[in-house]
Amino acid sequence: MELWQEMIRNSVSSVDQLVEKFGIKREVAEQLDNFFQARINPYYLSLIRYPGDPIWKQCVPDEAELMDIDAPEDPLNEDDMSPVPNITHRYPDRALFLVYSQCGLYCRFCTRKRKVGDSSKISMKNLESAFKYLEEHTEITDVIMSGGDPLMLTDVMLEKILQRLRQIKHIQVIRLGTKMPCVLPQRITEKLCNMLKKYHPIYVNTHFNHPWELTEESKKATGMLADSGIPVGNQCVLMKGVNDDPQTMRDLMKGLLAMRVRPYYIYQADLTKGANHFRTPISKGLEIIDSLRGHISGLAVPHFVIDAPGGGGKIPLLPEYVLARDDNKIILRNYKYNIYEYPDVKDESNNDESSLYYRKPKLRKTIYKKAKTPKQVKIPVLQ
Ligand code: SF4
Repeated sequence: MELWQEMIRNSVSSVDQLVEKFGIKREVAEQLDNFFQARINPYYLSLIRYPGDPIWKQCVPDEAELMDIDAPEDPLNEDDMSPVPNITHRYPDRALFLVYSQCGLYCRFCTRKRKVGDSSKISMKNLESAFKYLEEHTEITDVIMSGGDPLMLTDVMLEKILQRLRQIKHIQVIRLGTKMPCVLPQRITEKLCNMLKKYHPIYVNTHFNHPWELTEESKKATGMLADSGIPVGNQCVLMKGVNDDPQTMRDLMKGLLAMRVRPYYIYQADLTKGANHFRTPISKGLEIIDSLRGHISGLAVPHFVIDAPGGGGKIPLLPEYVLARDDNKIILRNYKYNIYEYPDVKDESNNDESSLYYRKPKLRKTIYKKAKTPKQVKIPVLQ
């Protein structure tokens, strides 16, 4: 057994352990266990500094989860967009491929908690029909392996899946969605990296949410992936009490970039059952992006997105940088809230009023309390 597998085996998971370690009332711990089991491996447990801290909040079951169990189980409609078991085909050229039900840690905010940890819901028996679907759909050029966590598979099992995917000629890119570099970095071994690099182009999307997760161990893990030629991106979830302040996010994004992980997305928390207490106002995400863009390297600035309820996909949100615009000019503010005018070039070819990009000869205006207007720029008055 490898070290990481032993660590999984030594995870905190039973009701008895929840009562003993975290002081949760037995009756509540039982209800939480029925709702969504706990798994906190010894590595991640060691990152907790005090009860209720940002690490604790992500992994220790909380009574608040039982308050909104009427929320949707599948807020992103993944199951309705699943043509065969284990596949979600939402975007034209990409497919989500669920390969395993287990995770190195069960995150209390998980969007897929209806399935993770349950091998009957992400069954390996269905892999054949999933491969067949991927073979038949030649428009799919990018496959995202997820779960659960694909790196919970042994190297041998993972390699079998990768070999099979690589036999499908139209699949160009394989992505692994894995939280292991963050929650159990011991999983990233030389042996794993040597195997993965036989199947390039491989990308890894990992999931760090807080600067305390950036440890020597996780730095080593992401460094090994990068040394194997695997670009590593990070998706994080914006959560109340975990990372909902600009300084925390700034430290996280800069820290990730320094360990060769490119910040990719900040997600607005999904409307997931048992996770309402993590939700933040949308303005918080916009404030965070505003505090990053221009203030730190553009390489460290992720997209802030809402994964649209009902399966609409990821929709990016930006703070307002365009104050006004017409055929002739655009009026913008920069990261310091100074205002600039840029002369536009009229698009003579676009006379289609229904086009999104057709510009009516009228300016729209956004009020910016913070904006500093230089004398030469006039913010237009609207009728
Ligand atoms: S690792 Fe991912 S899939 Fe597993 S519980 Fe955490 S968020 Fe959910």
